[in-house]
Amino acid sequence: MATKYIPEPFRIKMVETIKMLSKEERVQKIKAANYNLFNLKSDDVYIDLLTDSGTNAMSAHQWAGLMVGDEAYAGGKSYFRVIETAQDLFGYTYIQPVHQGRAAEKVLFPLLLDKGKIALSNMFFDTTRAHVELTGAKALDLVTPEALTPSVPYPFKGNMNTERLEKTILELGKEKIGVVVMTITNNSAGGQPVSIANMAETAAICQKFKIPLCIDGARFSENAYFIKKREPGYQQASIKDITKKFYSFADMFIMSAKKDAIVNIGGLIGIKNNETLIQQVKSNTINYEGFITYGGLAGRDLEAMAIGLTEVVDEDYLTYRIGQIAYLANKLDEAGIAYQTPPGGHGLFIDTSSLFPHIPYNQFPAHTLAVELYIEAGIRGCDIGSFMLGNDPETGKQRKAEFEFMRLAIPRRVYTQAHLDVVAEALADIKKRASSIKGFQITWEPAVLRHFQAKLKRIDE
Ligand SMILES: *Cc1c(COP(=O)(O)O)cnc(C)c1O
Repeated sequence: MATKYIPEPFRIKMVETIKMLSKEERVQKIKAANYNLFNLKSDDVYIDLLTDSGTNAMSAHQWAGLMVGDEAYAGGKSYFRVIETAQDLFGYTYIQPVHQGRAAEKVLFPLLLDKGKIALSNMFFDTTRAHVELTGAKALDLVTPEALTPSVPYPFKGNMNTERLEKTILELGKEKIGVVVMTITNNSAGGQPVSIANMAETAAICQKFKIPLCIDGARFSENAYFIKKREPGYQQASIKDITKKFYSFADMFIMSAKKDAIVNIGGLIGIKNNETLIQQVKSNTINYEGFITYGGLAGRDLEAMAIGLTEVVDEDYLTYRIGQIAYLANKLDEAGIAYQTPPGGHGLFIDTSSLFPHIPYNQFPAHTLAVELYIEAGIRGCDIGSFMLGNDPETGKQRKAEFEFMRLAIPRRVYTQAHLDVVAEALADIKKRASSIKGFQITWEPAVLRHFQAKLKRIDE
């Protein structure tokens, strides 16, 4: 049965022109970018699905909010508007704005972790893992086993494997675990949600061993929407109520506001009630981000963030947003292209191991598809696989990722049905010649977060 496209619950009053280069130009541009999609100019991209981070279209209210943003260095009213909105949403006493998600990680993680410590998560996002490792600690993923089979649907593939969580804590020793991080939605597993039941179980284990529990809540609202649709008992609850309940189980949160605050820049830290930690967060924020009442942002950014946090919990918006991804997924079903099922909240994660069985993990099948999609139709996607995962910090060897996903992240309120049709058609065309496509090797890479800067070439070049 075809999934119908849910009409946008908005109309458009400002537009940006995009254009597709010729195929010859695209082949030349991606080569000149050393086959790294982060090196392309956005002008050379037709449909940009590299990320949903900071690529959101703001509403008329948010644009109007920019004009009334209070640029006071200390105690500005836009700061208080963010604090009140976030306190109301998440129910935490202390809220600290920062300039983006990784800034929250940089401020908070050194207060919980150092060399010899371990951080556990349902699955760390790349920058989150990097900030764990930068403290000298190790990061371990404990995602639920259902997530590992992309072709078999499961309602909460983002979940923590709580059995393994408890076993790992017992094996490694509870005093070694600095923090447990619950990522919602689970970005690297395919934008997959975590249930309230799983969050409650995880919290009970953390309490038993007295380990702090931190939410990485970049997509809290999409997660709450899935709970409302899929978890028994929450069908009548509002997105706000579900969010508050979910957050009640944790001790702190970090958040990239570039996702579910529907802004272009921003981040948040929340601490429930730990005065010592709050004081340390304030000090680190002042050192790294700026005074606590602006946290590396302009007053107008704070204003837009406060408004975005109220817009993102609107159910008409979420129905359209999640519906867009389901629509694209349905088109790929018709073309016989596999992806992490069910479709995620912020994008579709194409299972490139099944599309390119002849390309091994260390020749980066997901990255290969991202390059091919650009060459095919000027579309920019992103590797969420071994290329992104990088090398083991101890052995320097390439790590093998749990998945080789090529992520098509959908920016919020930006693209329409026809754009998604172009994407589906391009993928269907690539599938026809998939067996003749060759993988890549890295010719240069930096030490940390290498996928942003690495240079590559085709294995037969
Ligand atoms: C984007 C993201 C981050 C990092 O946030 P930035 O704003 O890009 O620094 C951390 N965790 C998750 C789950 C994310 O999606």
